[in-house]
Amino acid sequence: MNPGKLQTPIDYLKGVGPARADLLRKELGIHTYQDLLNLFPNRYIDKTQYYKISQLQQTSADIQVIGKIIHVKTVEQKRGKRLVATFIDDTGQMELVWFKGHKWIRENLKINVPYVIFGKTKYYNGFSMPHPEMELLSEHEKNERIAMQPVYPSTEKLSNRGVTNRVISKMIQQIFQDSNLSFLETLPIDLIESLKLISKTNAVLNIHFPKSQEWLAKAQFRLKFEELFYVQLQLLIKKLTRQHKIKGYPFTKVGTVFNSFYKDHLPFELTGAQKRVIKEIRNDMGGSAQMNRLLQGDVGSGKTIVGFMAMLLAIDNDFQACLMAPTAILASQHYQGIKELADKVDLKVALLMGSSTTKQRREIHQELEEGTLHILIGTHAILEDKVVFKNLGLAIIDEQHRFGVAQRSKLWRKNTYPPHVLVMTATPIPRTLAMSLYGDLDISVIDELPPDRKSIQTLHRYDSHRLQIFKFIKDEIAKGRQVYIVYPLIQESEVLDYKDLMDGYESVVRYFPTPEYQVSIVHGQMKPADKEFEMQRFVNGATQIMVATTVIEVGVNVPNASVMIIESAERFGLSQLHQLRGRVGRGAEQSFCILMTSFKLSADSKTRLETMVRTNDGFEIAEVDLKLRGPGDMMGTQQSGVLNLKIADVVRDNDILKTARYYAVALLKEDPGLQLEKNSIVLYTYQQISKFKNIWNYIS
Ligand code: ADP
Ligand code: MG
Repeated sequence: MNPGKLQTPIDYLKGVGPARADLLRKELGIHTYQDLLNLFPNRYIDKTQYYKISQLQQTSADIQVIGKIIHVKTVEQKRGKRLVATFIDDTGQMELVWFKGHKWIRENLKINVPYVIFGKTKYYNGFSMPHPEMELLSEHEKNERIAMQPVYPSTEKLSNRGVTNRVISKMIQQIFQDSNLSFLETLPIDLIESLKLISKTNAVLNIHFPKSQEWLAKAQFRLKFEELFYVQLQLLIKKLTRQHKIKGYPFTKVGTVFNSFYKDHLPFELTGAQKRVIKEIRNDMGGSAQMNRLLQGDVGSGKTIVGFMAMLLAIDNDFQACLMAPTAILASQHYQGIKELADKVDLKVALLMGSSTTKQRREIHQELEEGTLHILIGTHAILEDKVVFKNLGLAIIDEQHRFGVAQRSKLWRKNTYPPHVLVMTATPIPRTLAMSLYGDLDISVIDELPPDRKSIQTLHRYDSHRLQIFKFIKDEIAKGRQVYIVYPLIQESEVLDYKDLMDGYESVVRYFPTPEYQVSIVHGQMKPADKEFEMQRFVNGATQIMVATTVIEVGVNVPNASVMIIESAERFGLSQLHQLRGRVGRGAEQSFCILMTSFKLSADSKTRLETMVRTNDGFEIAEVDLKLRGPGDMMGTQQSGVLNLKIADVVRDNDILKTARYYAVALLKEDPGLQLEKNSIVLYTYQQISKFKNIWNYIS
């Protein structure tokens, strides 16, 4: 059809007056015919099924019954009247109930004439159906049978004002009838053939008016595939463009520093995953484009050494390197670790933080500009304009989520071309999601832990077992270990949470009295300097127990800590629980994570706890988290653009996603510029999508 027709405002449809049109615009963002056609049903009701009254169950599914009304009465009640009709079939009786519109309904109901009624049933001393949809059986038989009735997304306002499912369905039907609709194809013919897809027109028709289950499945597959295919194409094209456009410094040499460290000073044998990832980084930095790579690896998987070896490559090519961490504690831990490694190959490393003295700064600034300082480690302080490198070639960022876009761009301007960037994160993004969200980023994954690791034992205990747990803590401390006890702190209930924390702290101090025991406490209401001081006491082993809120979540390394107690564990999200658990299991000793909860647990809480007890694998945990929370919540709102999918679901439709990605990759490999004649449909569709920023603004 004429694409212009699809832009017709909905006001032109019969039965859509200005009021309804306004409502549709406001409530569902539907302005045009096209918007309406893109309102995909949430689900379908199989209308080929009829129930007998004796078969009704106490569930609230939509059901359809044939029978007749034998009696109607108005019942007075406290708040207004209610109209009740007794409805029977040959197996029993039920009530039909109306709370408004009595007069009109009462006048129109026919007694002793067969009806088909449809709706949700309720049970209270027998079955009833409030506000049923009704049709005379004689009419029902005349009407064209819709086997699968679509259920459209709706809002309370819409249904209150009579814009029901049936009304929306009728409107869509009208568009199809008025315009004898047929859509331009949006996928290339070879793809359609090899995947045996149905045509665009058939897909749109059957998503609204499925001829059968089978046709519905075909329509859904076709539309989901199309949506995911174009999302992937966008991501991949973005990636290609980036690789061509952003020039970087090629590190062509693998020189003496790298080689000597690798041959003579590696403190341990690298895992296979570490070797693979180092190779990926090396390849990337060897090319003429800037590297922008995400390095994912569970806590303790050994990201630091990988980052360090990437720095060595920079230095071999006469560049400097820096590493930024989100907190002072993390930065100094990195500094200590990296200095130890760097000393072996005679490289100069410095630490720069907010607390660095003027004298220290002056020295660092000078050595950086002269180029005698090879590696700079620090906090945000590195980003300051005064910090000027002679020749920065690689910037490593630990725990990416703490850095914003503006900060990253400051980093980029520290050299003529932007330095290569390696972002290290211990928050695993599920593979499923990584592909759909970061299809345009390069990702390296360390999916293997060093061989000597003892896996952490995780237990779930109820609050009533607290004394046993305290006894257990005593035993561990007697063996020379340290213990974390973590309390939730959630913004909405900050005051209560704070009280829980202080109560908890007091009972810990009572049970673990000085001078035999020393207990630290760290929480968000303390001054940063005090926090740091307490933290440092625990790091140094001056205190055996650290009572804290989640401020300790990121990165702190105390290898001697072997027990992590998480209070009110049911209130934490999965990824947070996993991060917290990662604070232990860093030394040679068997470590434990104990999840304390009350008896009252929701189904989701149970799943989270069971998952934690079952596995230590961050990726597996991330997949469960994704299923529990859905992609939007999981990744926050900033990426929701990519996830603003109308019909596909990156979790449930992961197989389709993989297929779509496979075909998108293949297509771009053969035809990166979308120049081939056979791909002209793809180019045209792609341009339209880019223009409208939404795939479904474009369906013909
Ligand atoms: P993360 O990935 O959490 O940053 P780290 O890089 O801090 O992990 O490494 C955790 C610990 O494991 C460190 O003490 C490190 O020295 C050690 N480590 C890293 N790689 C290996 C390996 N291949 N074999 C043995 N120990 C390793
Ligand atoms: Mg780390």
